[in-house]
Amino acid sequence: MSENNFEQNIVLANFTTWRIGGPAKFFLRAKTIEDIKHAVAWSTEKNMQYFILGGGSNLLVNDDGLDGLVIKVQNDSLEIIDEGDTKLLKIGAGALLSKVFVSAKCDGLIGLEWAFGIPGTVGGAVCGNAGAYGENIGMLVESIDILRSGESIELSSEECQFSYRSSKFKSVDNQDIVISVKLRLKKEEQSKIDEAVKSVMSSRQGRHPHEPSAGSVFKNIELKNYPEEFQKLIPANKIKSGFLATAYLIDECGLKGKQIGQIKVSDIHANYLVNLGGGKASDVKKLIEVIRSSVKEKFGIIINEEIVFL
Ligand SMILES: Cc1cc2nc3c(=O)[nH]c(=O)nc-3n(C[C@H](O)[C@H](O)[C@H](O)COP(=O)(O)OP(=O)(O)OC[C@H]3O[C@@H](n4cnc5c(N)ncnc54)[C@H](O)[C@@H]3O)c2cc1C
Repeated sequence: MSENNFEQNIVLANFTTWRIGGPAKFFLRAKTIEDIKHAVAWSTEKNMQYFILGGGSNLLVNDDGLDGLVIKVQNDSLEIIDEGDTKLLKIGAGALLSKVFVSAKCDGLIGLEWAFGIPGTVGGAVCGNAGAYGENIGMLVESIDILRSGESIELSSEECQFSYRSSKFKSVDNQDIVISVKLRLKKEEQSKIDEAVKSVMSSRQGRHPHEPSAGSVFKNIELKNYPEEFQKLIPANKIKSGFLATAYLIDECGLKGKQIGQIKVSDIHANYLVNLGGGKASDVKKLIEVIRSSVKEKFGIIINEEIVFL
């Protein structure tokens, strides 16, 4: 590959759901695994930093952008193999999670309903172990193909180290690139699938802002990991399966509607910081610190981000 294969000075705000982010010096839409391999080899040869981008829906890109290469993963193949009472879905990492959910539903498969309304790619979902309503993609993963130092390697679900909104691919020093994912889903009667989808749709309806955002900025709180004094402050009806929505804490701090620049704590969902138009990453970061310190002051605990920073 040569420099001619790459687009240059591409504004990343156009590739994030937050609509925030400066330019990437080089940018490649990688439609095949070979494209990804070549791009990584090229940037390594040039001693240039590269970043793997999926749907940009869990990401805050800084205002200066990246003096390096952004590889937008777009290999979106989908193969469905019938195996008795289950089917195996072999999915390119660049496939949209929403499209895979629709294909699975139409194919009489249950288990991905929670994915309704979640933007982004399957690769991004694996990286952050995306999920909702107590379910997540890690629960469905049979194996993952990754690219490590130019070699394709298959990892089992255990080797991916899935945990709440995390996996081994989310660690700061991760170099692995998810190139394809195998999910196993159960066959089910269409009426039961429709019922499950309806239930997720009604849970999400009206609870999520429409302005540009990256979804929940902070991870929810797994109460068992926090001190007893804090747990005692939380009303029992706010705890679901051992988790507390961080939105509750932000709301209790009176921060709904708080605005810095064009970034505002959503009035609908306090864990969403929405971009009112032309918002800056620097303002998101300032608002994140205001929220973190307010929660620390009122509840005595530190809350951690779910989003990734570039
Ligand atoms: C309106 C809205 C609602 C949301 N609701 C939910 C929700 O209910 N539950 C939930 O879990 N999330 C939710 N999110 C967050 C987000 O959609 C998910 O985290 C999504 O799975 C991120 O995927 P992505 O492709 O956009 O990843 P990106 O944002 O592009 O990337 C996120 C991270 O994954 C890495 N990555 C991406 N692709 C690969 C790959 N192929 N190999 C290695 N690393 C990779 C990136 O380098 C980055 O570190 C929501 C977001 C929005 C905007």
